[in-house]
Amino acid sequence: MKAQVVRQFGDATVFQLEDIPVPTILPGHVLIEVKATSVNPIDTKVRSGAVPAVSPDFPAILHGDVAGIVKEVGAGVTDFKTGDEVYGLAGGFKGMSGALAQYMLVDTRLISHKPKNLTFAEAAAIPLVTLTAWQALFQRANIREHDEILIHGAAGGVGHVAVQLAKWKGAKVYTTASNAEKIQIAKDFGADVVINYKEISVEKYVDTYTNGKGFSVIFDTVGGQNLDRSFEAAGKQGKVVTIAARSTHDLSPMHSKGLSFHVVFLLLDVLNESHRSELGKILKTITDIIENEELKPLIDSNTFTFDEVIDAHQHLESGEAVGKVVLVNQW
Ligand code: NAP
Repeated sequence: MKAQVVRQFGDATVFQLEDIPVPTILPGHVLIEVKATSVNPIDTKVRSGAVPAVSPDFPAILHGDVAGIVKEVGAGVTDFKTGDEVYGLAGGFKGMSGALAQYMLVDTRLISHKPKNLTFAEAAAIPLVTLTAWQALFQRANIREHDEILIHGAAGGVGHVAVQLAKWKGAKVYTTASNAEKIQIAKDFGADVVINYKEISVEKYVDTYTNGKGFSVIFDTVGGQNLDRSFEAAGKQGKVVTIAARSTHDLSPMHSKGLSFHVVFLLLDVLNESHRSELGKILKTITDIIENEELKPLIDSNTFTFDEVIDAHQHLESGEAVGKVVLVNQW
C-alpha cells in the first residue's frame, strides 16, 4: 500500500511517499480503507520531535484522526462488519500506526460508526478535537444547563466544537476570537457573547460581562500567556481547564482566588488500553449529537490530498487555518 512515511523528526518536508505492506489483521481490530484524515497540532509536534514520549518509532506513519471503510474484521469483533463506514482517533502515536496510508489497522475500542450526515472528510475532522472538548467540559469542568462558561479560541479546532458542545448542554457561552470572520463563525455556532480579545482587555470584559466578579468556569484551548489571562478572568473559587500547559506560570492568582485547575491530555487515554473503551463510548454519543444536527465541524477552505501532506502541515503551522485542516485520500 502507499503511505506517507516519516524516518526522522523534522519540518514538514520529512514525509516520504513509500510502498509498504498492508497491516495484518489482529484480534479486536479492523482494517480500515482510509478515506480521510485531519491534521492536529499534536501531529505536527510528533513530526517535529517535540513530544518523543508519545511518538511512534521510525519508520512511522502519523496522524490520529481517521475516517474510512472497514475492509477486514479481526477475531472477536462484533460491533463492526466489512463495509461499515467508521471514524475515530485511532493511531499515529506510540505503538500505533497512523492514518496517512491506504489502510490502517485500528483497535475497535477507539472507533465508532461515522455520522451518516457527514462526508468522510468532515468526519475525519471530528474525533481528536471533540473528545478533548468533551473531557474538558463534561469530565473536568462538569458544566451543566444554565452554567456560564468562557471558552477561548472560538474558531480553533478544539474551540469551535467546545462552543457547540457547551450550547448542546444548555450553558451560556462567552468566547474569544481575533477578527470579524471568526467572531461570525462563533455566533453561527451559537455562542452567546463573542469577545474580540485583540481589542478588549481581560479586565474590561470581566467588568462588562461579570460585573467584575470573574467567570466561574474557563476553558483555555490556547495555553501560553492565554493561561495567565484565564487565571486573571476567573472569579473566586472558579475552575480553569486547559489543554496546553507545557509552560511556566505564576500561580499566585490561583491562590488568592482559590481556583481549581485541570489539565486534559487526551492521548493518555488513547495510549492506555484500559481507557480506550470509554473513548469509543463518548464517540458514539458524539455521533448521535452530530446526527441530531447539534454539532458540525468547521473545515478550513484549503483541503489537501495525501500527496500534499507537506502543504497541509505547513498550512496548519502557518497559523492561517480557520477550523480543521483535512486531507482526502486520492490513492
Ligand atoms: P488550532 O485549530 O490551531 O486553534 C488555535 C486557536 O487559538 C485559534 O483559533 C486561534 O484563534 C486561537 N488563539 C490563539 N491565541 C489566542 C488568544 N490569545 N486568545 C484566544 N484565542 C487565541 O488548534 P487546536 O486544534 O484547537 O489546538 C489548540 C491547542 O491545544 C494546541 O496547542 C494543541 O496541541 C492543544 N491540544 C491539546 C490536547 C490535549 O489533549 N491536551 C488536545 C487537542 C489540542 P485566533 O486567530 O482568533 O487567535
